[in-house]
Amino acid sequence: MRSATRTVCVLILLFIILAPLTTGPWHNVEAQSESPPLPDIQRYRIETANNVTTQQLTTDIAVTIDHIGPDYIDILAASSERDALLAQGFDIQLSPRPLIFSQVDQTYQTYDEMVANIQQVAQTYPAIVQLSSIGTSYEGRPLWMAKISDNVTTDEAEPEALFIGQYHAREILTVEMMLYLLDMFTREYDPTTPDNEITQLVNTREIYLLFSVNPDGGVHDIASGIYQYWRKNRQPNEGFGCIGTDPNRNHSYRWGGTGASVSPCDNTYRGTGPASTPEITAVQNFVNSRMVSGRQQIEVAISFHTYGELILWPYGYQSGTACGTPITDMPADDLAVLQTMGEAMAATNGYTPQQSCKLYTTSGDFVDWAYGAHRIFAYTFEMHPCFTTGCPGYGFYPPGSVIATETARNRKAILYLLQQADCPYATIDKPDRCNASSADDEWQLWLPIIQKA
Ligand SMILES: [Zn+2]
Repeated sequence: MRSATRTVCVLILLFIILAPLTTGPWHNVEAQSESPPLPDIQRYRIETANNVTTQQLTTDIAVTIDHIGPDYIDILAASSERDALLAQGFDIQLSPRPLIFSQVDQTYQTYDEMVANIQQVAQTYPAIVQLSSIGTSYEGRPLWMAKISDNVTTDEAEPEALFIGQYHAREILTVEMMLYLLDMFTREYDPTTPDNEITQLVNTREIYLLFSVNPDGGVHDIASGIYQYWRKNRQPNEGFGCIGTDPNRNHSYRWGGTGASVSPCDNTYRGTGPASTPEITAVQNFVNSRMVSGRQQIEVAISFHTYGELILWPYGYQSGTACGTPITDMPADDLAVLQTMGEAMAATNGYTPQQSCKLYTTSGDFVDWAYGAHRIFAYTFEMHPCFTTGCPGYGFYPPGSVIATETARNRKAILYLLQQADCPYATIDKPDRCNASSADDEWQLWLPIIQKA
């Protein structure tokens, strides 16, 4: 008890010291004169001498793994999550590494700066960029999407690809990833050099960039000038004091299984029902709208997250030893395609490739829905930093100095995936499977699931 009181005093002191430094850098955010609330999240340490594993820590309570040391795991947890872990008998202490109250880094773009940026680019490159909003967030912010293609206002018969940033508010590097892609496709496009890879892809693909699924959470995370470690959206939970649903546990496919929380105060709260958030309703409506003549046009997708330096593919919902075993809603060829492309991409960026459930069980995430409902070959990228021994300790808030290298690091993987989008089955030497009229048994088995979407 005494050490908890001392910690609170230290935090208050830290705040008093840092508060004057935290107004200003975000020039689009109104500086608050009132004391911002200190985040409930703290960094805790769990000794791993008695065989505690990350999977144990994330399966039931789904806290955030912050750092894995030689004989300990540091986690980020709210007080309710700490109490739940204590109740389960975990030996949990405040970590000796204090939570870093970073000064906000002005090299990261705020939501307003991001919107101004993408509107400017769309104005500069009207021939290949079409900007739209696929819906609005709970607080009414447009969910901006750029379509990039030649003849951009026409729906051509070209393979489509979807890239998504910021499901989770504090994963700020993912917004920069999306802005990197917008910049790359526009500045490097040159219709006079059709053999240039960027030009070739823009000419033969329809590429969708959904910059931020969770702008409300993102704005909230930095509004006070002190990062809030906020993950969820900002939709209130009726009858509860805590706010937010985890958008990446709110998708409709097998929503409500293990790997998501039923408690509105938890960081992985799944919501009141499938697609109960306006943000996920918008994402699903958009993807559903890309069904043309009974065929989903989007072939490949990446949902960007931080952190861990991982490439993950469906399914996440399989749990424990079932993870990776044959399953009726994924033909073996599809798992082979997901693994082949995942490993090929990892060879270009040094991430670790694995099936999503190998990390931990999740239900209701984007890749499970995109594949399960639409048979899109969808990946979660967990970007920089890594999270094992020797990795940088800044977690969700890397310094702005890493933005350029850590976004460009994924360039080759993304170009590779776009190249495969015209026939992903070619990667396992079965190009005839790309024909939707195939009478193959496995494909027939699959059809009702596609139509259900
Ligand atoms: Zn995430």
